[in-house]
Amino acid sequence: MTITIPERKAVLYKDIDILVVGGGPAGIGTAVAAGRGGSKVMLLEKRGFLGGNITAAYVETCNHFMHNLSFKTSGIWADMENAYRAQFGFSGDIRPHAPNRFSSEYLKIFLDKFTSDAGVEVCLHSFVNEVVMDGGTIAYVIIQSKQGPAAVRAKQVIDCTGDGDVAFAAGVPFDQGREKDGLCQPGTLNFRINGVDAVAMVKDGKDKLREIMKRFREDYRAGRTGLSCKRQDIPMGRLTENGIISYINYPCAYGIDPTNFADLSRGEMECRGYIMEMCEYMQKNFEGFEHIELASIAPEIGFRDSRRIHGEYTLTIDDVLSGRHFDDVIALYPQFYDMLSPDANMNEGSPQDKGYNGYICSYPKDGLYFEIPYRSLLPVGVENLLVAGRCISADHVAESGIRAISACMYTGQAAGTAAGIAVQKGLSPRTIDVKELQNTLRLQKLILE
Ligand SMILES: Cc1cc2nc3c(=O)[nH]c(=O)nc-3n(C[C@H](O)[C@H](O)[C@H](O)COP(=O)(O)OP(=O)(O)OC[C@H]3O[C@@H](n4cnc5c(N)ncnc54)[C@H](O)[C@@H]3O)c2cc1C
Repeated sequence: MTITIPERKAVLYKDIDILVVGGGPAGIGTAVAAGRGGSKVMLLEKRGFLGGNITAAYVETCNHFMHNLSFKTSGIWADMENAYRAQFGFSGDIRPHAPNRFSSEYLKIFLDKFTSDAGVEVCLHSFVNEVVMDGGTIAYVIIQSKQGPAAVRAKQVIDCTGDGDVAFAAGVPFDQGREKDGLCQPGTLNFRINGVDAVAMVKDGKDKLREIMKRFREDYRAGRTGLSCKRQDIPMGRLTENGIISYINYPCAYGIDPTNFADLSRGEMECRGYIMEMCEYMQKNFEGFEHIELASIAPEIGFRDSRRIHGEYTLTIDDVLSGRHFDDVIALYPQFYDMLSPDANMNEGSPQDKGYNGYICSYPKDGLYFEIPYRSLLPVGVENLLVAGRCISADHVAESGIRAISACMYTGQAAGTAAGIAVQKGLSPRTIDVKELQNTLRLQKLILE
């Protein structure tokens, strides 16, 4: 049964050049690029802080798979990483060979200034799930506030919500999950512990956590853990001198639609149960963990995929694997894919299996890259809308490559720059000169070839 909601009035809160919705890696890249380009930019974020999954799901590790590659990150990602390092160093991490780890908490503080330095007006607590269309153009984006709806009029809108919420509201078609059954990768509720024997973990320059993770996988596969959560890996992140492990990526809930509130409620609660079970398991089975306590649970369950918006071009896993060249390339990224099995199948699948026969994972190797075309950021049917981040137009397995945090920031940088050109020239993002976009990105030191 459906009901009709009575018509409402919304105050016009702002008239702006560029509106970015979603303050995760993609949204930050988009907003900073557009702000640095001289446009008037507003960034809306539903939570009380920026950072997306890095801060809200504790995914502090980011580019761990790029360690030891000759590929060097570039553009706004590199600016952010360098400026963060200058201020916070390695965030107290004492693990040897610790690559690219942020502290979710320091990053929240850092991003407030990083965005305001680029002239971005940030509005937190601003949830968007409604737009007002004028034909094929978004006339207004509606913020749902406690005081009622508020409207923002923008020349260009960029959807960086991860779930493609703005594009969905604008009626853009999308795919979600696997082709056959729509199942997405599991949701994961990361957590943090303290009380670990930090000295023992790094004794003699070794990284004992790596050994623990390896042994856990062996025990799980041999059926020795007795744990109820279906997960054979337990990636861990930053370890501090005073015994905090700030990122434990373990509890997984399967069969969750990341856009369905009833499913999300089930996922959060199911994962909290697994966290308790895991803490007890670690105390009993991991040497040096005898005195741990649960320090915190991430603000929200995190997702690796959900809606994938239909764009002018859909990037495929074959494009990724073949390193296909696109004339409208806007980002170059090390060849990478990483997809947890949507139905908890612990076998090793392959990209061709499309997620039906187990997990699929390949970390980057030197010299192998893939390109992301501009057309994958252009949703079909709407003139003043771009998408960036994990919801761009890609097939399910290709999405598991473009979802990498720094790749999301690259597509954001390209979208923000394209929107800036569109505003300056009074054009639609669809009709801007792509060569001009590419040259501008090169001037911003983004690597395209
Ligand atoms: C457990 C886990 C581990 C991962 N590990 C890694 C890893 O090691 N390395 C790696 O590179 N990637 C990893 N990822 C993937 C990565 O975190 C995401 O793909 C990436 O963060 C996507 O960036 P995004 O900006 O597109 O979306 P998100 O990070 O999801 O950010 C979207 C932002 O938009 C906001 N938002 C959403 N909807 C709305 C709305 N309607 N209105 C207003 N605001 C809204 C959200 O609050 C959020 O801040 C992991 C993901 C998970 C869940």
